[in-house]
Amino acid sequence: MTGATHGTAAAAAGGRLRVVVIGAGIVGACCAAYLRLEGHEVTLVEAEAPAAGASAGNAGAISPGSCIPLSMPGTLRKAPSWVLRKDGPLVVRPGYALTALPWLLRFVAAGRADRVDGIADALRALHGPVHECYRPILAAAQAQALLRRSGCLVVYRSAAAFASARGEWEMRRRRGIDWEKVDGPRLRELVPALAPDFACGVLQPDHGYVVDPRGLVRRLVAQMRSDGADLVQGRARDIGSSSDRLDIVLDDGRKLAADRVVLAAGAWSRPLAAKLGAAIPLETQRGYHLHLRAPRIDLPLPVSFAEGKFYATPMSDGLRLAGTVEFAGLRAAPDYRRAHRLAEMAGRWLPGLGLDGASEWMGHRPCLPDSLPVIGPSPRDPRVLLAFGHGHNGMTSAPATGRLVADMVAGRRPFIDPSPYRPDRF
Ligand SMILES: Cc1cc2nc3c(=O)[nH]c(=O)nc-3n(C[C@H](O)[C@H](O)[C@H](O)COP(=O)(O)OP(=O)(O)OC[C@H]3O[C@@H](n4cnc5c(N)ncnc54)[C@H](O)[C@@H]3O)c2cc1C
Repeated sequence: MTGATHGTAAAAAGGRLRVVVIGAGIVGACCAAYLRLEGHEVTLVEAEAPAAGASAGNAGAISPGSCIPLSMPGTLRKAPSWVLRKDGPLVVRPGYALTALPWLLRFVAAGRADRVDGIADALRALHGPVHECYRPILAAAQAQALLRRSGCLVVYRSAAAFASARGEWEMRRRRGIDWEKVDGPRLRELVPALAPDFACGVLQPDHGYVVDPRGLVRRLVAQMRSDGADLVQGRARDIGSSSDRLDIVLDDGRKLAADRVVLAAGAWSRPLAAKLGAAIPLETQRGYHLHLRAPRIDLPLPVSFAEGKFYATPMSDGLRLAGTVEFAGLRAAPDYRRAHRLAEMAGRWLPGLGLDGASEWMGHRPCLPDSLPVIGPSPRDPRVLLAFGHGHNGMTSAPATGRLVADMVAGRRPFIDPSPYRPDRF
């Protein structure tokens, strides 16, 4: 592609374009898959390997009904414990607290009562069509078996814990999301491995999970390559623009010419976006998993432990315990004690759980303070589309992002209203 300008006329006509997608996580892979389905000349640029980032080790939950903003009224009250309690589900490392402070203040502001309903609507719009949006790209890659529509169960140890979450369940109900409260005995029918001390739970029948998140990204990328797309290994360090094309500059000096660029580099997107004049307040919320290859128990569906704030997901090659939030930036070494704390809780709540051969992992959730991603044109050059910041829900929101990006590249009316995700909202 280097140096070629043949896409420019097509760009003007809205036809076949040269599109470079930066980042081969689930978001970049879904964008590239949609663009390739439409016949564009797609090049995926990846610094390491497909699914090198957050998309490999997540809990895999596919949650069309996930619409509760991470910051809600009352968030400020909880903030001091984030710094003071070293082993809580959410921590800010003391050495990183000052760096994270401006982001945390915006996060608290996004939880104001007059903002959360609008954010919940925008999350619902992006997550609701997840199954419909995965369908064409999974079918093209013959990867349908990687996504199971099993439902998902959230479990509560006390009636009081459920009561304190009731308002959020009603927020979901008002948005047409289906859920059913399940009492203790029925819980154990659904998940016999669960300890007897859970009072109740909530079943979300429309939910599901990806049995191998890394495998899904790799299958999408492999399919695009066999359809003629390119995968270039290299780290994008700059995007230059002239009137007839964009030039993506890689770390080793190589240049790729394009008519459109999609920036989908997850938690690493901020510096490139800044070079394009977009000051996006992107922060990493680090999360951990412990993957158990011989768990000795069976779960028929993902179980989310409300009090522990983590998931247990039955993956194709074992059981994965995943969750926790740590603010410590992109460079600090992982603290795998956080992953092992998940095992302590899971050992109590899933008696008989086998921990032999467990492996740990840490990944970077790309998070914006208002719980929404950015999807849309960069303010300085609308030929560059930003698609990052999918936070805790990227496996769920990636396919709708891919479809929106394909709509934007084609210049047609987007299939959902993209205005809540516009990059210039900050
Ligand atoms: C513990 C944990 C549990 C989670 N559970 C769930 C869940 O159950 N359900 C759900 O929906 N979501 C979940 N998530 C969130 C989800 O994993 C993320 O939102 C999603 O993976 C983000 O995808 P991404 O493609 O934006 O980023 P990433 O997967 O991080 O991909 C970014 C890619 O860009 C590459 N890159 C970076 N910089 C450059 C550059 N300059 N040039 C070229 N390439 C570059 C990286 O190498 C990487 O491969 C979870 C996350 C964590 C950490």
